[in-house]
Amino acid sequence: MVKFIFVTGGVLSSVGKGIVTSSIGKMLQVRGFKVTAIKIDPYVNVDAGTMNPYMHGEVYVTDDGGETDLDLGWYERFLDLNLKKENNITTGMVYKEVIEKERRGDFLGRCVQIVPHVTNEIKRRILSIAKKSKVDALLTEVGGTVGDIEGLPFLEAIRQMRLEEGYDNTLYVHVALVPILDVTKEMKTKPLQHSVNELRRIGIQPDIIVARCSKMINSEALRKIALFGTIPKEAVFCSYTVESIYQVPLILDKQGMGDFICKRLKLSNGEPNYREWEKFVNALLNPKHEVKIALVGKYAGLVDSYVSMNEALRHAGAACKTKVNIEYIEAEKFESNPDTVKNLRSFDGIFVPYGFGSRGTEGKLMAIKFARENNIPFLGICYGFQLAVIEFARHVCGLKDANSTEINPQTPNPVIDLMPEQRGIEYKGATMRLGVHKIIVKPNTLAYKLYRKREIYERHRHRFEVNLKYLGKLEEKGLTFSGKSEDERRMEILELPNHFFFFASQFHGEFKSRPGRPDPEYYGFVKACLDKKLGKPKPELS
Ligand code: GLN
Repeated sequence: MVKFIFVTGGVLSSVGKGIVTSSIGKMLQVRGFKVTAIKIDPYVNVDAGTMNPYMHGEVYVTDDGGETDLDLGWYERFLDLNLKKENNITTGMVYKEVIEKERRGDFLGRCVQIVPHVTNEIKRRILSIAKKSKVDALLTEVGGTVGDIEGLPFLEAIRQMRLEEGYDNTLYVHVALVPILDVTKEMKTKPLQHSVNELRRIGIQPDIIVARCSKMINSEALRKIALFGTIPKEAVFCSYTVESIYQVPLILDKQGMGDFICKRLKLSNGEPNYREWEKFVNALLNPKHEVKIALVGKYAGLVDSYVSMNEALRHAGAACKTKVNIEYIEAEKFESNPDTVKNLRSFDGIFVPYGFGSRGTEGKLMAIKFARENNIPFLGICYGFQLAVIEFARHVCGLKDANSTEINPQTPNPVIDLMPEQRGIEYKGATMRLGVHKIIVKPNTLAYKLYRKREIYERHRHRFEVNLKYLGKLEEKGLTFSGKSEDERRMEILELPNHFFFFASQFHGEFKSRPGRPDPEYYGFVKACLDKKLGKPKPELS
């Protein structure tokens, strides 16, 4: 029998439901249970792939090429899972399926309605994952805030699941904000009480309430939450602000949450084993060194745009006992004030992340040129890789007008061009080159030193690539493509052998980075930043 744990949120979004969901998964995992997680997103988009990062944060890419909500990234990192695209359910996906069935005639003669047809499709998806994944517990996080119109069919579906799966097999967790007022320093539980009331109006009585607060809630706040939430005090927990989010499972479990959940769901409760997790958290919280990295991007105003990249840098930092300080720099600023590029000298490394469209690309090119000419460690991911090729073509190969056709479709030197199979594509949704593809790593290169394998599998999300017509010219001038697709048609990794560390990949290593198991390209970069700072020589390749 699978245990179903549902997590809802109240008062406002971004309250930390994703981290609480991941943390509950961890509490069960360290007690020996197998878990998986689903994220429900009540928006009408079929997936997150068509949304701007400023709307929704980064698009997280799964092995099977799903363009999903960033919470799947938290589940994968906390629980060391490789999820599938079906682990992200959206309103768009559900309605698309129901409408296709209606057109096919599956409901012939009937009036197709939100209840039961849409709610049945939601339950079918949840149950199918529970069955396929053979887990002890399935966590389902409902995105948005209780009270949103678009969330209602999902809440109705999970309400029905209590009746169908039974009391002992279902658990409702409600996470809501408890603000502290600036003036009186009082912890205010009223917004949380209202959101619990709203949840009850829909027919769901929470079993557990998690108060999200900047500090541990005091006994008065706890008493009120229990009283007005109609739950025992033992079922109220507090997710207070900690230095690292990886501490959240530890602080919640310490309050008794893991044991409470096991008891309530009648799961035989083993002793939790946090040894590995604590080792990682301790390394993260007790660094011996520090490096400062400039992230030169286009979505620098919203940290959530680069969340997997941030985490990959932190995992790499923990592995070399180094605190990684990231400064977000809007690339466009260099364009209006070219002199300020020199300020990058104060950084230990320069990082150019993914991106789309032309805004800020000239600024990113200036940052890459600065890194290359001044021997500053550089890592480029996806667009960062493509822009590194353009920069090299312009300033080393002398192709002054080299560009990507994404930026200038009329460029006489399209060193980066649309992939041939992309030409006829009109639909924008889920049509990029997505998910895991095999890459062959060249021996005696920095790439081989980092990956120690001839074959690697990495996640992708792009439409453009290196134009093979320019390969000879680029290589002749010293750019090494140390990773390629098996048929050698696609360039996947580049490096500059004479530079201290100049490395870029068409793929996104950050999606495979895990606490305690950093991704090789991110590790190599952070280690190079540290070595350079400490005045160490460039490491040998053998
Ligand atoms: N815009 C580029 C492309 O589509 C790079 C995409 C990315 O950085 N993920 O190929």
